[in-house]
Amino acid sequence: MPNDQQPTETILILGGTKEAANLAKELVAAKPEARIITSLAGRTKEPAPLDGEVRTGGFGGIEGLARYLHETGVTRLIDATHPFARQISANAIEAAKLAGVPLDIRTRTPWAKQPGDNWIEVETLEQARDAIPPRARVLLALGSQHIGLFATRDDVHFVVRMIDPPEQPLDLPDHALILGRPGDTPAVETMLLIAHSITHIVCRNSGGKTAYAKIEAARELGLPVVMVGR
Ligand code: NAP
Repeated sequence: MPNDQQPTETILILGGTKEAANLAKELVAAKPEARIITSLAGRTKEPAPLDGEVRTGGFGGIEGLARYLHETGVTRLIDATHPFARQISANAIEAAKLAGVPLDIRTRTPWAKQPGDNWIEVETLEQARDAIPPRARVLLALGSQHIGLFATRDDVHFVVRMIDPPEQPLDLPDHALILGRPGDTPAVETMLLIAHSITHIVCRNSGGKTAYAKIEAARELGLPVVMVGR
């Protein structure tokens, strides 16, 4: 948007996902006269670059988000957060009502089981932990905040992949840590699964393309996936 013009629209995207980044790119290209802002929680130290403006950090609950919408003159709010980011999505619904701003919900639909998938479907992370058989070698594809729950499984070897190095050593008895983003093709994920002699994957049904490569790789190798539903 040129500096000397008032924006015709101000769109706030609640982001932190690949889909939100793609949406920001599309909107910036399609609406050069609009102000496009992506909001990040600030969990990732070096997030991938985004088109348009970026703001970082929590708003301070429903009231804080409603105030931000009002003060920034937001005309449309888009929730493109991760499907397991439940708090911010719930806040967005209430804050949009309070501020009188239309809300567009664009969170992903869950993956559906395909022929060849060997899923052990569970409802909670605790059930996922208990479903792992003894002496398994597990790719634990979960956010760092959930890893500690698996610490009691000292009979299992875990492989954990994280974007940023953890601030504290991981609270897991037997594990390997891989730093990096998930591979975006099944071939890359297959190589990782083979290299670490993985027997099981534990993940949540987050939907979307990026995290799906490991599910396709597991299907190809016939590996069981302990899948936590929404
Ligand atoms: P959450 O539990 O739903 O939110 C916790 C608090 O973090 C919110 O109340 C809000 O603080 C702040 N917050 C969350 N998302 C925000 C955003 N996009 N912009 C500004 N503040 C935000 O969220 P979460 O599960 O921790 O996820 C945080 C972010 O990581 C989200 O942007 C999400 O899309 C992304 N992400 C999450 C996952 C996952 O598995 N949960 C996976 C990949 C990416 P205030 O109440 O102070 O506003």
